[in-house]
Amino acid sequence: MAAGGNKMDATLRPGETATVKTTCPYCGVGCGILASLGPGGSVTIKGDPDHPANFGRLCSKGSALAETLGMEGRLLHPEVSGRRTTWDDALDLVTKRFQEAIDDHGSDSVAFYVSGQILTEDYYIANKLMKGFIGSGNIDTNSRLCMASAVAAHKRAFGTDTVPCDYTDLEEAELVLIVGSNLAWCHPVIYQRLLAAKSANPSMQVVVIDPRRTATTEIADLHLPILPGRDGFLFSWLLAELDRKGCKDTTFIDQHTDGFDDAIAAARCYAENIDSMADETGLEPAQLIQLRDMIMASERMVTLFSQGINQSTSGTDKGNAIINLHLLTGRIGKPGMGPFSITGQPNAMGGREVGGLANQLAAHVDFGDVSREALVHAFWSSKKPAMGPGLKAVDLFEAVRAGKIKALLIMATNPLVSLPDVDGIKSDWPDDVFVVVVDCIRDTATSAIADVLMPAAAWAEKDGTVTNSERRVSRQRSFLPTPDEARPDWWILAELGKRLGHRAAFAFETPAEIFREYAGLVRAVDRDLDYGDPADLSDGAYDAWEPAAWPLNAKDRLFADGTFFTDNGKARFIAIEPRSPKAVPDWRYPFVLNTGRYRDHWHTLTRTARSATLSRHRAEPTADINPEDADTLGLEDNDLVRLTSPSGQVMMPIALDGSIPVGQVFAPMHWNGAYNKTAEINRLVAPATDPVSGQPESKAAVLRIEPVSFRHRGFALTRADMGFTDCVYANRSRIKGGWLHRLAIDAEVQDWQSWLASRLDAFNGDRHWLSFADEAKGQYRVAVLENGELQAVLFIGKGPTADWLSEQFGTLELDDHTRKALLLGAAPGADPGPLVCACFGVGQKIIAKAIDDHGLCSTDLVGAALKAGTNCGSCLPELRRLIKSAAICQNRAACQPATPPALSETDVIDVEA
Ligand code: SF4
Repeated sequence: MAAGGNKMDATLRPGETATVKTTCPYCGVGCGILASLGPGGSVTIKGDPDHPANFGRLCSKGSALAETLGMEGRLLHPEVSGRRTTWDDALDLVTKRFQEAIDDHGSDSVAFYVSGQILTEDYYIANKLMKGFIGSGNIDTNSRLCMASAVAAHKRAFGTDTVPCDYTDLEEAELVLIVGSNLAWCHPVIYQRLLAAKSANPSMQVVVIDPRRTATTEIADLHLPILPGRDGFLFSWLLAELDRKGCKDTTFIDQHTDGFDDAIAAARCYAENIDSMADETGLEPAQLIQLRDMIMASERMVTLFSQGINQSTSGTDKGNAIINLHLLTGRIGKPGMGPFSITGQPNAMGGREVGGLANQLAAHVDFGDVSREALVHAFWSSKKPAMGPGLKAVDLFEAVRAGKIKALLIMATNPLVSLPDVDGIKSDWPDDVFVVVVDCIRDTATSAIADVLMPAAAWAEKDGTVTNSERRVSRQRSFLPTPDEARPDWWILAELGKRLGHRAAFAFETPAEIFREYAGLVRAVDRDLDYGDPADLSDGAYDAWEPAAWPLNAKDRLFADGTFFTDNGKARFIAIEPRSPKAVPDWRYPFVLNTGRYRDHWHTLTRTARSATLSRHRAEPTADINPEDADTLGLEDNDLVRLTSPSGQVMMPIALDGSIPVGQVFAPMHWNGAYNKTAEINRLVAPATDPVSGQPESKAAVLRIEPVSFRHRGFALTRADMGFTDCVYANRSRIKGGWLHRLAIDAEVQDWQSWLASRLDAFNGDRHWLSFADEAKGQYRVAVLENGELQAVLFIGKGPTADWLSEQFGTLELDDHTRKALLLGAAPGADPGPLVCACFGVGQKIIAKAIDDHGLCSTDLVGAALKAGTNCGSCLPELRRLIKSAAICQNRAACQPATPPALSETDVIDVEA
């Protein structure tokens, strides 16, 4: 094996592999990856055992990355108005239209909307061009939708956007409060580190504050099902209570903070009466007391927070309410202590550093910081610097709707799925706005409105750096050649900069040159950031960069000496007036919607939906509701419903889930029109934003639920995609060897064989049909084999799920046993149930049966018997839940078998699939 940090040499001899160290492109954990290329072009992905973020671990998404690397759907050539063109022509046109807009309407008539998916070098060029040379602050990023409130809270409290913790603090803490985060699904490797730390230190306590009982609560000593959006009330009450009880560090407050009196006076308004606090938060008084006492008893405390705090019209205040608590107790700047905001995207933090948010200039320098602004302008030799903040994401797209933006470049993001009120944005989209979309995928909701498409290099082809949630800067290294005319994002932006007349300022040839310049800017403005001396960053040093957290040359951890980055060096308490979510449920819209992520999917599915492995965990979105609510509405599990909010409508099945509180609904953020035309959840979300951060309230829309009528419901498995025609509702997902379509049809269908045949590709060979009908029950089943190979299956009416059939679809040559069972939908005793372990393909029914039959009362025993949970560990919370729900033993320690039981062949069927 040839191994190293450098770009991969693809000229390999038979039997040889080359391995490159790179970084996972999904979440803000920032796991290190070893990507290995074999001579035949095969790619294997493993966790990097040396990377300090993950020490070799990967979650299910990271483990399945190799499945997402194909060329299918890639944008490979520049296009203008849907027709292929040259790079020169495309760039010339974009330059002309941007320059015309600037000349005719001013610099603020153009904008860039970029993404936490791009690399720091890409971000640097985009920001330098817009804020240094076009002369507008109009560059914002989809990170605005993710953690802008945490950024604003950090800046108010610390003077800079500084995250004071790293992952080791979680391991060293005595008490970890997890607020507004389903860590087990959204940041699985951090969750696994926490799980391991808690196993090693049973006295560690974990509190999960979340309206839902999520997979994360499986390790919680205390779960507090707070009402949606009420965290500000809880943390204000805690501030007043801890102060009243004397749980505070008076020396720290006196010497290192400002604003204590105002903050405590504001908090006391909400703490006079525990019963009223219980009403505000939906928690029991005893739960409030228990939490307060746990905090008082544990010096080493980390409060980990994420989108449940940030995606709110009071997200910034909630972030500061959390920070206030740490300032009160002096629990910051020390091992095992601090407020810890976890970022969603792989390089959201890098974008924040560079200045990718519209309301900051660059390198953690704010607009209005006059002396440092001048340093930035001088460093860039700016001819036309931006003199103030630009438009934040939601306002930016409002300005597009209002016709104020004349030219817009969108890079590596899909805002026409991910923004709130997407239907309103689409319907108001002006004809005369010139739109450039830079992406690696050809067909997205956003590319459909583009005048110019520019093909970008994808993850495996890109070189640069990313910063994870703990401020650790890692190299992303290419290990596949860039196909056809795709180009790195930084190259595209630098070419635009040159053509707009700034040749010298954008004469970059490599990412290393860009990073060197950026490190020089960081050094010149001298804030909390530090990437070391740019003189030390030769091309070789950049290539060999080992993961390192900023500030690189710090003698001690951030804030260890109680010095912050405010003018007087003191941290600021912020007086909070807690607020409830803006939308209030009423008789028309009685439910509150919480949106979020699934374990095995990412953002708007453009990558993870390519993987059959990842699509098996959740092939289709569901609206999860409490069984009590379903009962009231006369609905059953899996019924198809319409969800209607004041902003729009979506349609999807319901899933009954006792972990969802009554009156609430959870639905995923991922689905888009390519996979399901009726489930884009942001149709329901209003464009209400936090007044400080501009972050939209994505977790508290109000809605009503109504059943959808149709004549037929079922599923089809096909080799080729058969589209969405004639369906009231259709969802498609990948399976091994084809597609799974879930359908609801309102048309009268007399002949299902003809219906299916008309949707299959023409075939001249031997096509053999199997069919079954029970008209009284409305059940119709059809399977078709071509030259003996299974090509399609259609099941209409109530009956078995698609789980077993999907498994068989990966096998072209069916044995007799399987062929006979096709129209049953399952071989006797072999239905695996919904997928739990993505790595080894182990279904819920197999696990539940093994737990019951063999008394498997720990995840280790389940792993030893079935392999489930023994690779990436993403399914461990679900395994724990299955073990708990089996209630196999009240005294687990006493009943634990010494060795795992031997299972029969039937038990382990499908495990190796
Ligand atoms: Fe990637 Fe999973 Fe690590 Fe996140 S936790 S960086 S998705 S491997």
